[in-house]
Amino acid sequence: MKAALLTALETIEITDIPKPTPGPEEVQVRVKCVAICGTDVHIYQGFPIGIFQPKLPLVLGHEFSATVSALGKNVTGFREGDRVTVEANIGCGKCYLCRTGAYVLCPEVRVLSIHANGGLAEYVVAPQTHVYHLPDSYDDEAASLTEPLAMAMCGYLRAPVMPGDFVAVLGAGTGGFCLAALAKMAGAEKVIMTDTREERLEVGLAVGADVVINARQEDVVKAVMRETKGHGADIVYEAAGVPQTFVQSVQVAAPRATISFYGVPVEPVNGFDFGMFLLKDLKMVSASGSPRCFSSAISAAASGRVNLRPLITHRLKLEDTAKAMSLVKNRQDGVVKALIKI
Ligand SMILES: [Zn+2]
Ligand SMILES: [Zn+2]
Repeated sequence: MKAALLTALETIEITDIPKPTPGPEEVQVRVKCVAICGTDVHIYQGFPIGIFQPKLPLVLGHEFSATVSALGKNVTGFREGDRVTVEANIGCGKCYLCRTGAYVLCPEVRVLSIHANGGLAEYVVAPQTHVYHLPDSYDDEAASLTEPLAMAMCGYLRAPVMPGDFVAVLGAGTGGFCLAALAKMAGAEKVIMTDTREERLEVGLAVGADVVINARQEDVVKAVMRETKGHGADIVYEAAGVPQTFVQSVQVAAPRATISFYGVPVEPVNGFDFGMFLLKDLKMVSASGSPRCFSSAISAAASGRVNLRPLITHRLKLEDTAKAMSLVKNRQDGVVKALIKI
């Protein structure tokens, strides 16, 4: 089968590799559409992913839609031709964390595109427990964004929005867009999104933000206070992963607010005001992975209550995977989500 294989640092070769055969409990799927993620680009550039250093050669891609093409002998509930998406984080299924639904934290977690080949190929195999049906109303392009939406759903569920809440989303990346959309779906009074890139803020308005603040032009804390009539945000989603937004998260929070840390910081955070955190009586949560969130993400998007289509800015072929990686890496041409259609 044809695959975009990462063979060395920033080197993708379109080549033939053996088609994977499904084990007894596995489903083989024919990939339709893959969304390139920042994590793919990190691996492409040779950075470790958390504690993992991926081994090459490797097929990247963990955000994809597909159709079922073959079934292991013990698989039930799927038929050839079914439209599906796949959850890439696969636990051992036996340990305490797996049995309590936290399989992302399983010490033996295996992630498609990090520990095993991912979706930038014609076929992939995955355990049947990690394959989800797609409703007809949810097309292949939109469905390739299920994984980031499911990840954001986990962050959202840790800090759910009540109708009437003021919400601040700090950072207009894919995670921030998904969180803004979910907050709006839940009935937020006002979703305020911040970033330093104007074109990203435009996308924020298209997916659910009511107000956007360009942090290069305005003082974020003052602007959030103005937009919330001096109250602050009841729910703060930190979705940029940079020190400034961690510091701002406590400053823009309303008394008794919840802050959900969603962005992964790549450098130490200095200046976080724990005194203010205590005096405001805040709550702080985090989220990792997407355990048990795929079904709710599919429901939110397939029903149209969340619409992530404005994130799709580029469509390319498998042969152009290297071009897609470089677009995302260099943030060129207003790219948000580049899709590879196979
Ligand atoms: Zn991703
Ligand atoms: Zn486990």
